[in-house]
Amino acid sequence: MSFLDNLYKELILEHYKHPKNKGELPPPALKAEGINPSCGDELELFIDLKDQTIADVKFTGEGCAISQSSASMMTEAIRGKTVDEVLELSQKFKDMIHGEAPAEELGDLKMLQGISKLHARVKCATLAWVTLEQILKPHTP
Ligand code: ZN
Repeated sequence: MSFLDNLYKELILEHYKHPKNKGELPPPALKAEGINPSCGDELELFIDLKDQTIADVKFTGEGCAISQSSASMMTEAIRGKTVDEVLELSQKFKDMIHGEAPAEELGDLKMLQGISKLHARVKCATLAWVTLEQILKPHTP
């Protein structure tokens, strides 16, 4: 394993142990649940949408380190962005995880690129983003 792989692994575990934006948002925040039965990952995502912008975001859930750290990283990546920007980012992230595109313009999210080689864990890494799309797709203009 390369130095970089080890470093990314450390950072992923750090997000797992100390997740960012963990918790709930009260109504009228938008809310969706995501489940990945193949691994047993569960996620509940809360989005506070103001003027087509992610004003606040939180998540709760239980599951493997990859699913939970991916959710934590996602909340950091999308806060303050518009719905359009976030859906574009989501597509780029999924392309990277499916090994179909380079990890360009993805910032910290590229830490998860190694998952693209672990096919059984792809759904763990994308769970938060799929759940996010459930919330945002009905709010696209
Ligand atoms: Zn998992």
